[in-house]
Amino acid sequence: MGAVGIVKLSGNDSIEIASKVCRLRSGKEIKKLPSFKLALCDVIDNNNKALDEGLVVLMREPFSYTRENVVEIQVHSSPLIIQKIIQICINKGARLAEPGEFTKRAFLNGRISLNQAESVAEIVKVQSEKALYSLYKNLRGMFGEKISEWQKGLAFIQAKIQVECDFSDRIGTTDLQATFAKEINTIRQNIRKQYDRSKKFQNLQNGLLVVICGKPNVGKSSLLNAIIGKERSIVTPIPGTTRDAIEELFLIEGFPFRFVDTAGIRESQSYIEKIGIDKTKKYLEEAHLVIVIFDQSQEINKEDYTLVDLVRKKPHIIVLNKSDLPSKIEIKDVNELYPQEKIIKISALSGKGIDRLLDQIVEKVQLIKDNYDEDYLAFNFRQQNELFKASTFLEQAQKSLEEGFPIDVVSIDIDEALRCLKRINGEDIDEKVVDSIFNNFCVGK
Ligand code: GDP
Repeated sequence: MGAVGIVKLSGNDSIEIASKVCRLRSGKEIKKLPSFKLALCDVIDNNNKALDEGLVVLMREPFSYTRENVVEIQVHSSPLIIQKIIQICINKGARLAEPGEFTKRAFLNGRISLNQAESVAEIVKVQSEKALYSLYKNLRGMFGEKISEWQKGLAFIQAKIQVECDFSDRIGTTDLQATFAKEINTIRQNIRKQYDRSKKFQNLQNGLLVVICGKPNVGKSSLLNAIIGKERSIVTPIPGTTRDAIEELFLIEGFPFRFVDTAGIRESQSYIEKIGIDKTKKYLEEAHLVIVIFDQSQEINKEDYTLVDLVRKKPHIIVLNKSDLPSKIEIKDVNELYPQEKIIKISALSGKGIDRLLDQIVEKVQLIKDNYDEDYLAFNFRQQNELFKASTFLEQAQKSLEEGFPIDVVSIDIDEALRCLKRINGEDIDEKVVDSIFNNFCVGK
């Protein structure tokens, strides 16, 4: 259910079908409507009875998403109305689109490249602001242009090598060899840089894992609630109530962070609590950052020391909670446990110190301070894999040149690298691969 729902038709017969489903209020014929102009209409069923009023718009080929004739019928978005309209369209000759079929047609009809099509799938599920801007560049084809630039560069080097080889089966002088190797290396480095940045960015995209841990009752759930500003974890004064880990997604500086409130670590008799504690240990292994909490209204004891050993190898932030209560822990005591660490005093209850803690998190996770605005990023495994393979083939080509191998060997590697780059944009690609890419799209995209 929603305010407006859109039924979209694409293909040769779409205008014909729409004219049997929509009746313009103006009394004019739908096929005479100009493109991109909304017109008020009634949607009519198989018995010519109106069932909703809406707007209809034509986008004639080739100026549409699919480069085919496209019609959009905008109606009130009740599932019943939408279902009925789809059924009527089917009765008049349409069929249901397969997942991603609109975008697939846009690709097959040459409107967009494969990597642009893949950005469409990514952009509908984007979670981080930074990824959004980068994906937009992909969507507009800028990553594809970068790829074409590398392709052209390699093709040019390839041609120069060929000219040299018309005279012998080995490249003539060491000077020339070195020049070609250097030119190949420049492109290879660019490709490799984009690969590394894409991988790193993807890690950030998936969300950095921040694990909140401490012994029971120090205020872990309260801190998570203070951070996300809503109550989801169970906050209770009985030790050991957060038996399972609770995860929340939270954006800081445009990047998603997965905050996890874990079961407090302590020696436990309860089977269920033990499972929770094991899970905490697993989270700690995977964590990008650990927030260690002490309750400063209680003295440090054995359980706190267990924790110190557990998190020592991970990037961590030390927090003294309950700063609103009289203090029983001196900062110097904690400093003995964690030398050289800045210790942050907070009150999860009043919210005091939370902003400083968030600043500290950003500082600790230096990665997110990188500027990705200049990057053209590969957003999925397929594209990243092709970049990686291309850079490996170029490395081999470069080596072969440096070691004076016959030119055919160098040429084969450059060809392979070119093929990888082509596949990113969807040229020279197996039909089955194309099908499997679009099968993962959602219906209607
Ligand atoms: P957890 O077991 O570590 O998740 O701890 P909880 O978040 O459930 O908190 C345990 C108890 O400490 C609850 O009664 C909280 O209200 C209380 N508490 C948490 N943070 C603070 C704080 O900053 N100040 C005070 N005075 N009490 C707090």
